[in-house]
Amino acid sequence: MSECECLAVCPFFNDKMPLLGGGLVEIYKENYCKKDKDSCARYMVRKALGKEKVPPDLYPNMRDKANQVIAASQQPA
Ligand code: SF4
Repeated sequence: MSECECLAVCPFFNDKMPLLGGGLVEIYKENYCKKDKDSCARYMVRKALGKEKVPPDLYPNMRDKANQVIAASQQPA
């Protein structure tokens, strides 16, 4: 487990996405960005498909959506 190498450029980490309530942003930064990037939905898509394929509204906890995005891109055309 390690800090994510995308901290400097990630819209989520830099508060460029609509803020989540209840202090979730700080919790996610702590749990995903600083500890467990491999569990982050944004990181999963970035790693599988490239950063331009990461949906702008994908939050770190949305692993199901990340898997859908990755699966959809792997369908034969
Ligand atoms: S762990 Fe996810 S949300 Fe955090 S900086 Fe990396 S890609 Fe962005």
